[in-house]
Amino acid sequence: MAATASKVKPGLRLPESTSIATVQALDTTLQLYVKSVNFLNPVIPGHETYNCPTMAFLITHQSTGRKILFDAGGRKDYWNYSPLVDGRFKKGVNVRGFRVDKEVQEVLSDAGIDLNGLESVIWSHWHFDHIGDMSKFPASVGIVVGPGFQDTLLPGYPANPESPLLETDYSGRDLREIDFRSCPRIGGFKAFDSFGDGSFYLLDAPGHAIGHMCGLARTTKNTFLLMGADTCHFAGSLRPTSQVPLPESIDLLANGLDPQFPNPCPCSLFEDCHPASVDHEKRTTPWYTASKAPGSAYVDPDTANQSILGMQSFDASPDVFVCLAHDPGLFEVLPLLNQNSRNHVNDWKVKGYKDATRWRFLNELPREGKPGRPPIVYGWWRDGKQVDIEEAFRK
Ligand SMILES: [Zn+2]
Repeated sequence: MAATASKVKPGLRLPESTSIATVQALDTTLQLYVKSVNFLNPVIPGHETYNCPTMAFLITHQSTGRKILFDAGGRKDYWNYSPLVDGRFKKGVNVRGFRVDKEVQEVLSDAGIDLNGLESVIWSHWHFDHIGDMSKFPASVGIVVGPGFQDTLLPGYPANPESPLLETDYSGRDLREIDFRSCPRIGGFKAFDSFGDGSFYLLDAPGHAIGHMCGLARTTKNTFLLMGADTCHFAGSLRPTSQVPLPESIDLLANGLDPQFPNPCPCSLFEDCHPASVDHEKRTTPWYTASKAPGSAYVDPDTANQSILGMQSFDASPDVFVCLAHDPGLFEVLPLLNQNSRNHVNDWKVKGYKDATRWRFLNELPREGKPGRPPIVYGWWRDGKQVDIEEAFRK
């Protein structure tokens, strides 16, 4: 079944403030090639596996200079995750390709950012591709997590041999769990005002994992960037909707479509693989909803679909730029902190980043049952080389 996009409500009301947060996008260099079945519903032939580069964001409160990191990517030494996580890797549960060239603290240090000046790392959620390797951060850097985290996830390994986390991921640090219970809503989401002045909110966006949160930064007085994290795992789970319909045709260059498509590109080319049975829904509902497969990566797929619906309202606003953690198109357009320490994305609206990235996911969709694009990574990579599974997990 395609998503219930027709329920997207118009008229998103965004709070007012003049306090701004600088947002810098960074490539965590974690590249994943992931089996679709536990993430995307339905599985579409030719898209049984999908590409997941991984983005994080450095947020600087403009008036005070306070810095926080939203998500931390993966660790280079993946063979040192908790035994539960590594056991799943070795069994090939979800991951078909894994590579990290530079961890986030290295990306930040290389950009000249003093890690001692970092107040905290927000884990949008506790999955391996978002928590980084906190042992490489100064002990003064805290961790911020969503509701239910401490009761459900702690303690880590080895105190709890079955935990997906390590005790060293959090021990000795200030660990703060956000309580959304008395928070007002923005759109459909309960919103915690992080700096207390309307410059950066954490949004309670449940469904994918216990405590899953999004970030909403005020990039100018009237514009926002929504860090969508893993509310969904593919931009074709977010778009199109009745408010953001797929046009009849789109310009190849302006929309960043691959050169093998005709220009202008008739969007009917992408309808063949759309699961909707009614023609007009192929232009107004996303390709995917949250997986309900027995091993689904969504702890609560129905709730996740509600969160996705909520995020679609933001996506439909000309004043909000929604950035999912694993959207390949963003890496093709956004100026990254990796390239220049002064790069930021606060001027996304003036620069047209939202328009330039909206339909890039079409490149990833299958064509005639074959993958639209090759894998960004295949197999297990260690020290810049692909290695066999035994070598990959050798300690
Ligand atoms: Zn993820």
